[in-house]
Amino acid sequence: MPIRVLPEEVASAIAAGEVVERPASVVKELVENALDAGARRIEIEVLSAGRELIAVSDDGCGIPAEEVPLALARHATSKLERAQDLFAIRTLGFRGEALASIAAVSRLELVSRTAQDDRGTRVQVEGGEAGAAQPIGAPVGTAVRVRDLFFNVPARLKFLKSDNTERRRITEWVTRYALAYPRVSFRLRLDGRERFYSPGQGDRREVLAALFGAQAAREMLALPEEPTASIRVTGFVSPPSVSRSNRRGLTFFVNGRWVQDPSLVAAVTQAYRALLMVGRYPMAVLFIDVPPEAVDVNVHPAKAEVRFREPEAVLTVVQRTVRATLLGQATPPAMDLGRSWAEGWRHETAGVPGPDWQAAHAALRNLPQPMPLQLHPRPGSEGGMPLLRAVGQVGGTYLVAEGPDGLYLIDQHAAHERVLFERLMAQRQEGSLECQALLEPETVSLSHEQAQSLESQLDALRALGFDVEPFGGSTFRVRAIPQILSALSPVQALWTLVEDFEEDESPLAEEVEARIAARVCKRAAIKAGQVLALAEQQQLLRDLEACSSPRTCPHGRPTMIHLSVESLERQFGRRG
Ligand code: ADP
Ligand code: MG
Repeated sequence: MPIRVLPEEVASAIAAGEVVERPASVVKELVENALDAGARRIEIEVLSAGRELIAVSDDGCGIPAEEVPLALARHATSKLERAQDLFAIRTLGFRGEALASIAAVSRLELVSRTAQDDRGTRVQVEGGEAGAAQPIGAPVGTAVRVRDLFFNVPARLKFLKSDNTERRRITEWVTRYALAYPRVSFRLRLDGRERFYSPGQGDRREVLAALFGAQAAREMLALPEEPTASIRVTGFVSPPSVSRSNRRGLTFFVNGRWVQDPSLVAAVTQAYRALLMVGRYPMAVLFIDVPPEAVDVNVHPAKAEVRFREPEAVLTVVQRTVRATLLGQATPPAMDLGRSWAEGWRHETAGVPGPDWQAAHAALRNLPQPMPLQLHPRPGSEGGMPLLRAVGQVGGTYLVAEGPDGLYLIDQHAAHERVLFERLMAQRQEGSLECQALLEPETVSLSHEQAQSLESQLDALRALGFDVEPFGGSTFRVRAIPQILSALSPVQALWTLVEDFEEDESPLAEEVEARIAARVCKRAAIKAGQVLALAEQQQLLRDLEACSSPRTCPHGRPTMIHLSVESLERQFGRRG
């Protein structure tokens, strides 16, 4: 399609004008243009964090000589013709504004050549004033050089962050597009030094390392490909053993466009429910592909937000795909016998009274990566567990059990938390929640902040069987508590929950409920150090077997560690 100035009614249908805010926005727009032009190789050169120079060259289709001046005009684009095209956008750009906006605040040079032209065309613009187009020798493709960004708008220069921050943002954009377009080779040089390179061989995992580090990238789980679905979700998610303390590790692309969308963040976070510890967040890079008419990209000036025509359908597919991938791989970590245990015994032989349980607990908690193992999940149960026979209790804390394929150590507290959690959530779903009315309502006084956070979580607490109401100032009245907490003092129980609230960063209603439920169960569960009779141990194992996710506690820690027959044999030297 030739470049044309958009008719007024189309131009005015376009979401608010684009503003070039910072060097990274220039890099982003120029890279998008190169991708729209079908480039296979994109080179980005940056000096002084983009203030001195941003140069992007590509081997794409180029611009015909006679259209070069138009490319720099406002609302001139080759990507859109009629207003209705706005409802089925297949390109990254569509507003015909980026080059004009960049040229208005810099000294810009554009050189471009199509395969049909035997020479290239060069045009220079300074602060929006375009010079005459001139012929010049050039390879097929386009090269844009942006010098002295914001030389004529000092106010915007002042708003730039430190060079390091600006460089990081530039690198982020290049990395994002390298992920979204694995068949395009990207090279980013900052002040003459190569900062990022992707060979364009189609391997996304290679790019992941730049985003998350080599170790985490190796461990990321690939979602299955379903090439025929109309809503396709592909990409990578972190296993529950790898997490972060914030949501910044979540990256989404819709039809090849990087977007920020809280509902997608929520969908992925939901898929990890009960697999991650409270306050931990997964990492993910997801590519969501839908027919172009199923998504509106014309809603945000920087095109960083989209609106799905059927958000429910998309979010459901995202959540289901991620959840299935996670459950498909959840296996109890294998025990590293070599370390913690051997150390425990060495203590004993050296005359130290018994193994150091605290150290052993700590070591067990920091177990290495899960090793794949063959369990036979019972049909219908997500990542089920084998039938286990209780053998005994160790340190009043772990159950030792025998299974069809070796030895299991079960954390009694974590296991009981899981059992209670599933019971509570099931009751909640069936509306058969058991709660215990107090004979005398009790009042609880909280700090101002605690009161505020409690206020905002009242609905979730009520849904879980707390009958709590504001009682003036920062005081609350408790009339009932969930049955499973009946052994505790209501005030105590509420206090613990409130203390935890303060760390929460405004999550979603459903997430809040699951978190509160997890905390309730933590309070109610059998503690470490509590001696259990063999019958009680066996009952706990039976209850755990009945769970749909028996292998992790609601906070995402493993409930069990497996030592296979094979590894026992190896440890005892019966097998090579
Ligand atoms: P938009 O991308 O929204 O169309 P731009 O101002 O970014 O607006 O670009 C204007 C036009 O210039 C594009 O529609 C395209 O035809 C042309 N153009 C810009 N950059 C390139 C490039 N790297 N290769 C080929 N054509 C380009
Ligand atoms: Mg563009």
